[in-house]
Amino acid sequence: MNIHEYQAKEIFTAYGLPVPGGKVAGAVDEAVALAEEYGLPVMVKSQVLTGGRGKAGGVKFCESMDDVRTAADAILGMDIKGHTVHKVLITPAVDIDSEFYIGMLIDRNTKRVLLMASAEGGVEIEQVAKDTPELIFKHAIDPRFGLLDHEALGMGLKLVPDDIKKARQLGATMQKLYRAFVGADASLAEINPFIFTPTGEGHAIDAKVNLDDNALFRHPGYEDLRDLAAEDRSERKARVAGLSFVKLEGNVGCLVNGAGLAMATMDLVKYYGGQPANFLDIGGSSNPEKVVNALTIILEDPEVKAILFNIFGGITRCDDVAKGIIKATESMDITVPIVVRLTGTNETEGRALLAKTDLHPAETMDEAVQKAIELAG
Ligand code: GDP
Ligand code: MN
Repeated sequence: MNIHEYQAKEIFTAYGLPVPGGKVAGAVDEAVALAEEYGLPVMVKSQVLTGGRGKAGGVKFCESMDDVRTAADAILGMDIKGHTVHKVLITPAVDIDSEFYIGMLIDRNTKRVLLMASAEGGVEIEQVAKDTPELIFKHAIDPRFGLLDHEALGMGLKLVPDDIKKARQLGATMQKLYRAFVGADASLAEINPFIFTPTGEGHAIDAKVNLDDNALFRHPGYEDLRDLAAEDRSERKARVAGLSFVKLEGNVGCLVNGAGLAMATMDLVKYYGGQPANFLDIGGSSNPEKVVNALTIILEDPEVKAILFNIFGGITRCDDVAKGIIKATESMDITVPIVVRLTGTNETEGRALLAKTDLHPAETMDEAVQKAIELAG
């Protein structure tokens, strides 16, 4: 789950990271009132779930109340890379002397939290990684020990080789960020930029955190951080229905049991020249209600011209699955053709049930996929 800068900053603050105060406003007058509370200058910052806001005009430095009014008015309602701004963060502006990048993510190669840091802060780190990868320093953190003092200081010194005081501050920031990362069950945490003022004070002036969906159950409070307005409508419906769903651009709707089989199905659709409309894992159940939910979500997409069921009956028997599909499709008004491939336990019984319907049965995965692509046109 992706959260907003102001929410990430709340987590950072709880872990002792130096974040300038701030509050969000949804209207111009509210923004001005907050600026009066903090005193000038302030930053007016769009809160959208995407990066590069500064470049897009969604981050403004304001020296007067008129500036605040103009900036809030311009930014609220602005579209940034397809995201509409509903809230702005008002935060005291700080003087920037130097900017750094400090980030962490889960690295699948080392199977550790990877700390990345660079003195090329404030710019898009993806660009730095592409143009000058040698300017990004990396350290895979050993989960048994965490980020040890000498390791943190070593990383700090790579960023500021001749300033031990700043190197210590940067190192301490990395250690706090690691504690926040682990404590919040994040999958990504970034400070870009971490800045020093001319008098040497350090501040995390931007914050980006992705939370690991699989660990949300450990943090009941985090559910409130979800921005429902920013979530794709069908993906939200699927999440509430307990389905694992990702919307894609194609026209073949896919209902598959098991994430691996769902991936293989999408691969095969592409292999035969088609485009999957979605990833969907309906899990190991033949429950007609689940099938109805899944079909409803898929059919909300007007691009979908054919539906492909690819079901492997293991513990769930194929005849039960067939009954579930038949019951679900009979209760709905579906105009697009449906291809069903059932294999596994009791497949003969399952296929016999399907033969009595106008669903299109298929025996092999190749046959099913090709048929679905053909029917989708
Ligand atoms: P992003 O563009 O989405 O990454 O948004 P940021 O929060 O990183 O803001 C973009 C840029 O605005 C930063 O890199 C800074 O250069 C500038 N900025 C943000 N906060 C301040 C501040 O308090 N003072 C000053 N002078 N500039 C700031
Ligand atoms: Mn930034």
